Amino acid sequence: MTSLRDSGEDLVPRKPPDIDRARFLTGLSADLDIGQREDSLTALLLVDIKNFRHLNRRFGYRVGDSILAHVHSCLKENIKKASIVSRLGDDLFAVVVPDMQSLRLLPVAASKVQQILAQPLRCQGQEIRLECYVGVSVAPLHANAGEAMLIHAERSLEKARQEPDGRFVAEGTGDKESLNEWKLRDELNRAIGAGELVLYYQPKVSLQNFKPVACEALMRWNSAKLGNVRPDIFIPIAETSGLITDLTEWAILTLPREAAHIQYNNTLLNVSLNLSPKDLVSGNLQATLESALNIWEMPSENITLEITESSLMDNPELCFEMMEELKSFGFKISIDDFGTGYSSMSYFKMVPANEIKIDKCFVSNLVNDRDDQIIVRAIIAIAHHFGMSVVAEGVEDMETLEVLMKMKCDYAQGYHFSKPLPGAEFRQWLDTYNMIKYFSPPKRPKRAANS
Ligand code: C2E
Ligand code: MG
Ligand code: MG
Repeated sequence: MTSLRDSGEDLVPRKPPDIDRARFLTGLSADLDIGQREDSLTALLLVDIKNFRHLNRRFGYRVGDSILAHVHSCLKENIKKASIVSRLGDDLFAVVVPDMQSLRLLPVAASKVQQILAQPLRCQGQEIRLECYVGVSVAPLHANAGEAMLIHAERSLEKARQEPDGRFVAEGTGDKESLNEWKLRDELNRAIGAGELVLYYQPKVSLQNFKPVACEALMRWNSAKLGNVRPDIFIPIAETSGLITDLTEWAILTLPREAAHIQYNNTLLNVSLNLSPKDLVSGNLQATLESALNIWEMPSENITLEITESSLMDNPELCFEMMEELKSFGFKISIDDFGTGYSSMSYFKMVPANEIKIDKCFVSNLVNDRDDQIIVRAIIAIAHHFGMSVVAEGVEDMETLEVLMKMKCDYAQGYHFSKPLPGAEFRQWLDTYNMIKYFSPPKRPKRAANS
């Protein structure tokens, strides 16, 4: 609190506003309902007067009461957009700002509250400037219900007390991205039950007999509200929000039903499923896998579980243990996006995998890039030494395929054969698969007639 001389508004003796938490919550809930209907942001700012106890002691409780009344009316008059200004505790006030245009305005609002209260106030011939801490929460980003909004704002207020400027605008409110992310998360949660998720399939072709021997199931989200959302957008969000285990469970239950019909020349194709590291440690994975396979009467040997190399690095011991266990139940294990996880060579010795998938970043320029050729050749040699087969991802042309064949790569996957396709289209692709189309020898230049 700063003390100046002889200026500012006179403090008028007044009764303090009532503390009515219940009424405040009713009002807040009504605002939140409107915000939800109109898809708009509702902000809650909690304002705590710094050192209010000292003011009470210095000027007496009647002045203290008048200061509280002053704070209440000051906030009401100056924050025009506020729908509610309430006293929630001794020196604690709440301001609700509905229909906030952007999250970027939140720090602005918090600092405006501080500026408003810092206007000089004359009291018993002395001038005081009130200082305050401000905590915030925003619906729908942090919560949707009144109590939850309040809890979030109280936490933010706690943090504000440690901040040099006395305000804390919670993480994730700095830009519009976080709101989009929140919306995606909410939609994704709904999508699982709403039948908006689909599995697409992409073939893995043997480079020894040129037959499609396996396929990878890749998730697609056709959102009624957002359109098609790419997996590289929604999978990371599912991972950070914990929804990934629900998505995986959905895929596990869907996959065997569809995989039972995926055949080439009357032989069932092995199907790969992508897992996240959270699935490995969730504790439910194995039971879900077993029950799904039992229902659809499919052997576990027909399923490959793909785990990205980078995700294993966080907790390799635990992941390796889980992989061993899954392997003992007959599932095949594949290390996805190999080469991007910075694992050491000694890793090859320990990883309990049947297959390594070389990341497409090493494959896309393989024909022209000598460095990539050296890396890919080395990965293939080491993987073979440890008894693992190798899949090259992202094969888009015949030339790359030829290089991979020379390097003794075992399988190839990529747009050269097919993009990921919905189940029915993929079965059609298999029915009409013609290896000559994909493995035709390079055309020799025609000789000129007179040479
Ligand atoms: P991934 O498992 O490495 O899958 C391969 C990705 O490469 C797929 O992208 C596929 O469409 C793409 N691709 C295949 N061939 C080519 C090619 O020739 N050229 C190029 N440029 N790309 C090719 P998609 O389907 O967008 O999936 C991206 C990633 O999302 C996947 O990478 C995987 O990590 C993750 N993902 C997809 N479905 C699932 C799922 O069901 N569960 C989990 N946990 N992750 C999934
Ligand atoms: Mg994969
Ligand atoms: Mg991959």
